[in-house]
Amino acid sequence: MQVEKKQFQAESKRLLEMMINSIYTQREIFLRELISNASDAIDKIYYKALTDDSLVYDKDSYYIKVTANKDARLLTISDTGIGMTQEELESNLGVIAKSGSLAFKKETEIKDGHDIIGQFGVGFYSAFMVADSVTVVSKAIGSDTAYKWESDGADGYTIEPTSKETVGTEITLKIKENGEEDNYDEFLEPYRLRAIIKKYSDFIRHPIKMEIPSSRLQEGSETEYEEYIEEQVVNSMVPIWKKNKSELTDADYEAFYQEKRYGFDKPLKHIHISADGAVVYNAILFIPENTPFDYYTKEYEKGLELYSAGVLIMDKCGDLLPDYFSFVKGMVDSEDLSLNISREMLQHDRQLKLIAKNIKNKIKSQLQTLLKDERERYETFYKAFGRQLKFGVYNEYGRDKDLLQDLLLFHSSTEKKLVTLDEYIGRMPEDQKYIYYASGSSIDRIEKLPQAEMVADKGYEILYFTDDIDEFAIKILTSYKEKEFKNVSSGDLGLDENEQENKDEATENEHKDLFEEMKSILGDKVKSVRISKRLRSHPVCLTTEGELTIEMEKILAAMPNNENVKADKVLEINSNHEVFASLKNSYENDKEKLGLYTNLLYHQALLIEGLPIEDPVQFTNDICKVMVTPSA
Ligand code: ADP
Repeated sequence: MQVEKKQFQAESKRLLEMMINSIYTQREIFLRELISNASDAIDKIYYKALTDDSLVYDKDSYYIKVTANKDARLLTISDTGIGMTQEELESNLGVIAKSGSLAFKKETEIKDGHDIIGQFGVGFYSAFMVADSVTVVSKAIGSDTAYKWESDGADGYTIEPTSKETVGTEITLKIKENGEEDNYDEFLEPYRLRAIIKKYSDFIRHPIKMEIPSSRLQEGSETEYEEYIEEQVVNSMVPIWKKNKSELTDADYEAFYQEKRYGFDKPLKHIHISADGAVVYNAILFIPENTPFDYYTKEYEKGLELYSAGVLIMDKCGDLLPDYFSFVKGMVDSEDLSLNISREMLQHDRQLKLIAKNIKNKIKSQLQTLLKDERERYETFYKAFGRQLKFGVYNEYGRDKDLLQDLLLFHSSTEKKLVTLDEYIGRMPEDQKYIYYASGSSIDRIEKLPQAEMVADKGYEILYFTDDIDEFAIKILTSYKEKEFKNVSSGDLGLDENEQENKDEATENEHKDLFEEMKSILGDKVKSVRISKRLRSHPVCLTTEGELTIEMEKILAAMPNNENVKADKVLEINSNHEVFASLKNSYENDKEKLGLYTNLLYHQALLIEGLPIEDPVQFTNDICKVMVTPSA
């Protein structure tokens, strides 16, 4: 019978080629990937059997088997798991990476296949790193027919009916011939295979069986040995979370992280919890090192694997993690949870709530320890996920701000690095009343903000807010250890300068008419025009009154269906600057010129803030006017 050859989806094909041709240093991980899949498939049938009376569960009949046939160069990984239907073979193995990752790949230039594997972990397809062709024979639970999926890589694949007695999946790899520099024979050596399984898959909870050549004394002889094949279970099978922490090394946790494919980076930190208080559970949690490519998208789904007495009942239990810790990966196993619990019931489960609360506090304290003892690693973490913590401060009207505020870091104007709020407070001179901050799109831009001049001159430290969420989070926080936050660009700065203040007030009163005139020239664009108490060398700046600042206005304006909300802006003039004399002069002698100057200053202030100029043509015309009229 001629079987139609189907093509991989175009994107899959390119990925596959890249992978096959990539010089992947750890080819051996293909075995881990296939064994993990097999183990997952057994988990699924195991769970089904426990909750479905029509299936009889017999522990001994669930296992994974790895068999090598050196002469035929065949390596087989078989399992008694749930199996795949024809449709599942097609949809699971016919497309490589998920659509999200493909879209991502289009946007970013990824040069070599290595990164692809690193980023997405293409699981099953890693088989093509060591095999010329792969055959999958599978019979799904509840189905009469088995199907054979076959592919020799980039060319495409075929699917046809076949026969298989038992439910489960059998994957056979035709191992590549050795190349000049590549040794593939090792993947046909039982001892080598056993070592690879020990290294990566020791904690797999189902038996991994192998046939290992052995020898024993011949019966009746004291010197003669005979060769025979012994079937061995090669993994220890005790799940890692049931082990004693003292028996485990960092490498064990790392191997578990990779075996579980929680991420394709190395975990930055692991947290192993064995709780036997009000609720009994074991958990292994990981803080990843890198931000997953889809982390800040809608597609990202938070959650931990949930086991009930060793049986996986949910892949991603979102209720176990607050959104601001959504980057945490790992699993929870508890005997206290009922097995056939539905998603809806789980949400209201008291035990689960207790576990979630417990986990939340554990993560917080581990992060705090990391911050205290391993600052550099903490900063790596913060670069990847700090934004999410700030989001947590802001979310739910600051419900968890107390938990999170000590974990925040901001760039400091004086330290020139990231600092905590506690460190800032610790450095505050006695006469400083507020925690000052300035917002802008980058550190460079904030550094040049005229509004910050006076505060900086006093020697006060300023925190730089460059993330769009920063100001929103701080508005919710309002204060830290009883010190209020103050934006250098809004309201009264609270600098204790009585003498200067009186002088400013006098000048302000003296020129009240001038400022009123300027305000009427600008109309609704500003709330008022006044003398600045924060400028030293610059002639002009914009500040705001009220809650909404200019940076917040910009962020809101960039949002879909924005309401076009505007900050209440104040045009501040430096009375010590020479332009002030020009303003006074034109107010008295030439009103038209006052109009010109006022508009120019306003537009300059907009430019400094990075705000758009409504009428750039008028602005340039105005500048030309100044260039051609003799100065006042
Ligand atoms: P991943 O495991 O990351 O989803 P894979 O490419 O390794 O990606 O596998 C794709 C899917 O194929 C799996 O999610 C699973 O549904 C199915 N699958 C793979 N191997 C097996 C197996 N041995 N038994 C049953 N289903 C399997």
